[in-house]
Amino acid sequence: MMVRPAVYPGSFDPITNGHVDIIERGLKVFDRIIVAVLENPKKDPLFTTKERMRMIQDIFAGQKEVEVRAFDGLLVDFARSQGTNVVVRGLRAISDFEYEFQMALMNRNLDPGVETFFMMPNVKYSFLSSNMVREVVTLGGPVEGLVPELVARRLRDKIKRRKKAKN
Ligand code: ADP
Repeated sequence: MMVRPAVYPGSFDPITNGHVDIIERGLKVFDRIIVAVLENPKKDPLFTTKERMRMIQDIFAGQKEVEVRAFDGLLVDFARSQGTNVVVRGLRAISDFEYEFQMALMNRNLDPGVETFFMMPNVKYSFLSSNMVREVVTLGGPVEGLVPELVARRLRDKIKRRKKAKN
């Protein structure tokens, strides 16, 4: 039978339980999820590409059906280079819709053979973003239940080191 991979692109700065939920749901539909970590997001990332990739690899350690790759350039080209025409994206709330709609249609314009597949996370993650998590940790708040434990630890370490470097 044909193996059907899908690409799940994003900044993952850092990966949250919402992303993990989408990957797990994606695996119910696709044989393999290639998590594509954007190398140079517009926003100045808190974690380097390697650190962001490492966290995802550690969370899915031993699960061959989750692969983690760095990518830069056009998403449609990256998807094709991985042997797939499917892009998975998560939709949290209506606020995600406009941007995701534009991006899906632009990608279709660039390569009409590429399909974008939207999935809704568990409602408890529908308010969750990497951005919010970074802010809460910076202000010293708890992020338990919002990110995997190893991500919470690395976030606290990173913020501590940043604060030390500033002083
Ligand atoms: P971007 O930098 O493009 O916003 P992210 O890394 O934040 O990318 O997210 C990648 C994808 O995961 C996007 O489709 C985004 O909508 C989705 N996503 C982010 N957070 C969640 C969440 N809590 N639940 C479901 N999907 C999410």
